[in-house]
Parts: sequence; C-alpha cells; structure tokens
Amino acid sequence: MLNYDLHCHSTASDGVISPAAVIERAAAQGVDVLALTDHDVTAGLAEARQAALRNDITLINGVEISVTWQNQLLHIVGLGFDEANPQLQQGLQRLRNIRESRADEIALKLQGLGIQGANDGARRLAAGSIVSRSHFARFLVEQGKVSGFQQAFDRYLKKGKPAYVACQWASLEEVVSWINEAGGQAVIAHPARYRLSLTKLRALLVDFIAVGGRGIEVACSSHNPAEKAKMADLACHYELLASAGSDFHEPDRGWAELGRCTALPGHVTPIWHDWPCQQRSTNNKGKNTLTFA
Ligand code: AMP
Ligand code: MN
Ligand code: MN
Ligand code: MN
Repeated sequence: MLNYDLHCHSTASDGVISPAAVIERAAAQGVDVLALTDHDVTAGLAEARQAALRNDITLINGVEISVTWQNQLLHIVGLGFDEANPQLQQGLQRLRNIRESRADEIALKLQGLGIQGANDGARRLAAGSIVSRSHFARFLVEQGKVSGFQQAFDRYLKKGKPAYVACQWASLEEVVSWINEAGGQAVIAHPARYRLSLTKLRALLVDFIAVGGRGIEVACSSHNPAEKAKMADLACHYELLASAGSDFHEPDRGWAELGRCTALPGHVTPIWHDWPCQQRSTNNKGKNTLTFA
C-alpha cells in the first residue's frame, strides 16, 4: 500500500520549511503521494513539483481554504485541481486580501494590549508569504510574551481571546465550486477540530454534499482514535470519500509528522481510490517510480 499524506504546509503559508524541503522530508518519511495544502495560496506548488520529480514523490496539487459556515471558521482542502484556474485564483486572492487587513487589526489589538511591533514582526516572519495567526504566535514567542506557540493561541489569538479578529471568509458553496470548477475534489479538513455537536456536524455534511463536496479527513493528526472512527462511520453513512493527512507545519512536532496519518479504517472508500497513481513499479533505471494507469 502506498503512503498518502494529503495535508501539509510549507513557507508558502504558515509552515516553517520550504516546499522543496517538505518534499525531501516527505520522501525521507516514506511518503509516496503528497498534497501540499498551504492556506489560501498555491504559490508553493511549482517548487514542490520540481522537488517531487527529484524525489520520486507524486505531488497532488493542494490548498487549504478558509471558509465561514454558520459563523464558524472551517477549512476546506482542495485536491487535484488545475492551479491555473482563474476563478480559483481570484477566490484565493480575495481571501489573501482579507488576511492582509486582518493582520493589521490583530496587530492593533495586540498594541492595545501593550505589545508593540506585531505587524512588522509577523510580516517579517511571514517573509512575503501569506500572514497567518501562526506568524503572530511565533512573534509573541520570539518577544518572550508567551512561553510557547500554543500559549500564544490560548492567551491571545484563538476565538474568544483578546487579539482574535472575526472575519467573513468565503462561503462553503463558493469554495467548493472554485475547487470543482478547477477539476479538483473538496475535502473537509480535520472535522473533529471544530467541536460541532453531532447534529451540527451532520448539517455541515449535508450542506457540503449539496454544494458538491466529495470527502472528509478521517485520518489526521488532530483526530484521536474515537474521532477517527466516528468520521469514518459518517463518511460511509453520507457516501463521502475518506482522506488522510498529517497537517504537518514544522519538524519536531511529532504528532504531526509527514506520512504518519495514512492508515484509513477498512470500511471507508479512500479519496484516492480512482486516482491514477495506485502502485509502485520499477522503471528501466532500477529506480522506484509511481506509474499512472
Ligand atoms: P489563520 O488561518 O491565519 O487563522 O491561522 C490558522 C492556523 O493557526 C492554523 O492552520 C493552525 O496552524 C494554527 N492554529 C489555529 N488555531 C490554533 C490553536 N488553537 N492552537 C494552535 N494552533 C492553532
Ligand atoms: Mn496552519
Ligand atoms: Mn486547518
Ligand atoms: Mn492545515
């Protein structure tokens, strides 16, 4: 069986290693098929594609898109789309514009809390890529305002905390249509992380299917075994395809290492079940390559 990792991040968004380094690390971790899914941007894919060729990895175009559904922030992963699709790119640009003004507002809130320089600091850490709350978290760690990354979210950045800024991201319908129009598949990222009641989670799945969504993440680093089993059962019940991804952001966060989340329960249909990259073969140079059926 191949090792699939269909959710991870690079310096194109809030990951800490470059797209090429993600590919090299994935290869070292035994990943065969990888989707790089940076937040609201596909800028890392070109570099990742070159590196994938050198490392015998099949790269699936990916992105993780910010959605507001019933006043709740959701992440929708797009897989296997044409990255040149203008509708998709215009949509992602709109979200990046929201991120820009949100960063200004987060920095103002932090300033009001006596923390200076957050705007420049977060943007310096983002180094020209999208600005994420992760960059603010790293800035707060760097400045000694918090003891660690998680504490930055728990004290300042997560919903209900004083530097949280609510945003109207794209709608579920828009995002799924951008992905579908670009020939891709839409997947609900880490569904258990939203802490929805079962009733609300079912409502989300119904809405998602109605607008053309195809899959949910079943195996991922934020799901414990019970959550993984629950999402697998829901995937079967609603005839959604099951996806698997580490949500890797940086080395040394062991629970989210590349390639660690590939195993799906036997009764689900993997999202890759009809992808043309199912088996390894040996080419005439004696090197392992992935074949396309
Ligand atoms: P953003 O998309 O800019 O709002 O940032 C969201 C990113 O911050 C996520 O993709 C995670 O990497 C990280 N993140 C969000 N919430 C938390 C949290 N409660 N604890 C730790 N990291 C978080
Ligand atoms: Mn992230
Ligand atoms: Mn996410
Ligand atoms: Mn992610």
